Amino acid sequence: MKTNSTPVDEFDRRHLWHPYTSTIDPLPTYVVDHAEGAVITLADGTKLIDGMSSWWCVIHGYNHPVLNEAAKRQIDRMSHVMFGGFTHSPAIELGKLLLSIMPPSMNHIFYADSGSVATEVAMKMAVQAQDNPERTDFATIRSGYHGDTWNAMSVCDPVTGMHSAFGKSLPVRFFAPAPGCSFGDGWDPADFEPMRKLLEENHKRLAAVILEPIVQGAGGMRFYHPQYLRELRAECDRYGILLIFDEIATGFGRTGRLFAWEHAGVEPDIMLVGKAITGGYMTFSAVATSAKVADMISASEAKVMMHGPTFMANPLACAVAVASTKLLLESPWQKRIKEIETIMKERLAEARGWKCVRDVRVLGGIGVIEVADYIDVGPFQKECIKEGVWIRPFGHNAYIMPPYLAVTDEQVHKLCDALLSIVKRLYEH
Ligand SMILES: *Cc1c(COP(=O)(O)O)cnc(C)c1O
Repeated sequence: MKTNSTPVDEFDRRHLWHPYTSTIDPLPTYVVDHAEGAVITLADGTKLIDGMSSWWCVIHGYNHPVLNEAAKRQIDRMSHVMFGGFTHSPAIELGKLLLSIMPPSMNHIFYADSGSVATEVAMKMAVQAQDNPERTDFATIRSGYHGDTWNAMSVCDPVTGMHSAFGKSLPVRFFAPAPGCSFGDGWDPADFEPMRKLLEENHKRLAAVILEPIVQGAGGMRFYHPQYLRELRAECDRYGILLIFDEIATGFGRTGRLFAWEHAGVEPDIMLVGKAITGGYMTFSAVATSAKVADMISASEAKVMMHGPTFMANPLACAVAVASTKLLLESPWQKRIKEIETIMKERLAEARGWKCVRDVRVLGGIGVIEVADYIDVGPFQKECIKEGVWIRPFGHNAYIMPPYLAVTDEQVHKLCDALLSIVKRLYEH
């Protein structure tokens, strides 16, 4: 494998912003030529096994013939048509499919353009669904992530979400500590006490609680106890607070269940899906809610749900989402994710005794090694390129979440080999 001539593009370095980067001291970027299955090929021919699913979304792998075909078929009919006054079969078919797999109480769907916009829409829904004008605020838990737009950012973890960079311009929300009881461990009722208190004291101002069920993704890669959600549902019901589950990262099988709420068996009032909804083909998201919430919005002063993006229900995205979701449901996804989980559990356990490692955790198609040091992304990724894998750590977490319907066992082993050896090389002294 070539490792000496990693492609760098000077125009890109000088003029293009990448996620969370400086223009003065940009992180290295690698030019991708093409990708197929679970393998990304760089311009110089270097092949990388994808350990990220391009941030949770590429569940079937890249360049999938079925998804390519769905996109091509739809392009030849129409790529886009406005949803104001029109509808189309991709939107209808996707709606039927989503409602058949979402929590039973979900009854209305709002199609949006990205995860962050879905969060904005959900928060707007929650405020519009109140008959009490005092109830406009939100509570959440620390270590969460809900997107980078204004209100989404306001409910992200204040530290990892860098609230300090936005000062007074960002609304200040109510935060309870992140749940302490891990998924798979025992339940301690004390874990819910701070949230119980928060709701007791502030319920008169709260429209909703928003959180990621079971797995907190980009805010900390934490897996918490399902009982937390059961307690939360009961308290929200007690005070008439809406409960929003952000399943943008957890949806479509990633945690071993189709959606993470199933681990706890309690339904939200509003649920968000995105990322893997199109199998990673294009940006798209959906906000689902119950008939009760939808009716409350329609009975509100505005009488309508006040949102309507230009690209709402984009037919191309809907058509690919239908194909991706069907492909997932027709596959042995549950068995496959279990197999990948088993390999990652066995292999990553090796790091558990290392001095530099704070925690090792695996759930479904997600394997995390949390190290004591803060991980410097640039040097870490240089090692990844040498090892022929693609992993992008953040904070203290080095983690893999491969495209579960495309990776082979051998590729999962190679990802584990690389993750272990890089962590050891860089941090175990
Ligand atoms: C990625 C993510 C979002 C934001 O989605 P974008 O498509 O990046 O705007 C929101 N919530 C969760 C849980 C996510 O993982």
